[in-house]
Amino acid sequence: MASGPKIGIVAIQGDYEAHARTLDRLGAAHSYIRKPEDLASLQGVILPGGESSTHLKVMTEEGLFDALKQFAANGGAFFGTCAGAILLAREVHGPAQASLGLLDISILRNGYGRQLASDVHMGPTKLRKDPLEMVFIRAPIIESVGKGIEVLAEDAGHPVLVQEARVLAATFHPELTSDTAVHEHFLELTAQ
Ligand code: GLN
Repeated sequence: MASGPKIGIVAIQGDYEAHARTLDRLGAAHSYIRKPEDLASLQGVILPGGESSTHLKVMTEEGLFDALKQFAANGGAFFGTCAGAILLAREVHGPAQASLGLLDISILRNGYGRQLASDVHMGPTKLRKDPLEMVFIRAPIIESVGKGIEVLAEDAGHPVLVQEARVLAATFHPELTSDTAVHEHFLELTAQ
C-alpha cells in the first residue's frame, strides 16, 4: 500500500514514466498531471526531463502553467529534473523563455552543447556520505543562484542539485538510475 504524500508527475512528454517507476520503488503514491484538475489532492509535483519548450507550450495551452503557479502559492512542493529545472528557474537563457519562476536560479539551456551524448558522473552530495550517480542529457547549466538557495551537489564547478524551501531541482536525471536518494529527499520535503 502506498503511503505518504501524493505526488503528481507532469506527463506531457519526456521521461515521466521513469519518475513513476522510481516512486513505485519507494512505495509512494503518484498520478499523472495533464490538466489543471489533476492537481487536486496532490502535495507535490514532479516536472520531468524532456524538451522544456514543448512542456511550456502544452502547459500554457492547457492552463497548467497558471495552475502550477497557484499550486506553489498554496504551499505545494516541486521537484524538477533537467527540463523541469529549466521550467522552475527564475531566469532562462539560451534562448530565453518563460518559466514558473519558483526557484531563484538563472539557468542556461543545453549548457554543455547540443550533442545528444549523455555523460555520467559520480559526485558528492550533501544528502548523504556516499556519492551520487548523475546522468546528464543535454543538460542545462545553473549559472547563478540567489541567497536563499541551498546547493546540495555540484559538478564541474556548477550547482547541479539545488533547493529553496519546498522546491528542488536537478540538472541531471536521478530517475534514470536505480538510486532513489533524491526522490526520497523530495518525499521528505513534501511531507514536511
Ligand atoms: N535540453 C532540454 C531543454 O532545454 C532539456 C534536456 C533534458 O531534460 N534532458 O529543455
